[in-house]
Amino acid sequence: MLDCDHSCSEKLFFVNGYNIVFCKKCGFRKTFPIPKRQDLADIYDKNFYSGNDSRRFGDIGEMLVRFFRFLRAFKAALFYFPKRVLDVGCGRALMLYYLKKYFKAEYVIGTQYCSASIAYAKKKFGIDVKKGELADNIGSIEKNLDLICFWHVLEHIDDVETYIKLSYQLLKKGGKLLIEVPNSESFSAKISKNGWMGWDTPNHLTHFTPDSLAGLLENNGFKIFKKKYFSAEYSVFTTMQSLLNKISGEWNYFYKSLLVGKDKQEFSAKFIGYFLLAVCLAPLAIIANLIFYNSRQGEVIHYVAEKV
Ligand SMILES: [Zn+2]
Repeated sequence: MLDCDHSCSEKLFFVNGYNIVFCKKCGFRKTFPIPKRQDLADIYDKNFYSGNDSRRFGDIGEMLVRFFRFLRAFKAALFYFPKRVLDVGCGRALMLYYLKKYFKAEYVIGTQYCSASIAYAKKKFGIDVKKGELADNIGSIEKNLDLICFWHVLEHIDDVETYIKLSYQLLKKGGKLLIEVPNSESFSAKISKNGWMGWDTPNHLTHFTPDSLAGLLENNGFKIFKKKYFSAEYSVFTTMQSLLNKISGEWNYFYKSLLVGKDKQEFSAKFIGYFLLAVCLAPLAIIANLIFYNSRQGEVIHYVAEKV
């Protein structure tokens, strides 16, 4: 991947007004055209989160979000005992807060675009979150880190290689890099094609396959020691929503109705129809994800790599 300029690209799908293209030389998948950087800053600063607590979902969704953030902290503590942690694209820094409060992390820091989320993390949890790109903040983040996390963040980035190189600089030798992204070669991406929820243009700019993510890490000095393709947070919902997208031809209607703020879909009789359809599809989605639980065709790619 390092020696490929991705210049020889071909269209794969058209999703939400953007193309998904792949490089014929190395297979790398991108959104095209890439939205302007200012547009991206606007998406995350003004439209992504809302309300006093800078949340994305209604009350039940918010409870689930907090539960799963705690689980991320718990698993990180259980497997890697990190004392010094960076969470790139950390939302409201919930995972960092739980790591510090319950699992004895000493130095925790995050990055994020949204000013309201940064203010919330500072005021509510006392966690330092730097605004904007990792590269812009590299001077104000301490080195010799034990763990850097990219939880469903790397797919939002265009220049992914820069982020991996900067992570290498910030980690101590033997430090861990944890990355989870949607798997664009999942079984449901193959079935639902342009309806697959993981394309999510223009929010998602890079679309990983198990091989392209492995190549990115291994070419930049990392050794992958854990590979997983199932996520309790994402897998079943992604399959279900992707099937809904394919059946209805409408993009993420059910998902959007669970949001709060600007992207929210208004409650209507149509929502009840979608809800019932979602209930019918859920068992199918669960069974499919159990079948693909240990396969490279699961809905996510979850790699943990070590700086060697
Ligand atoms: Zn290429």
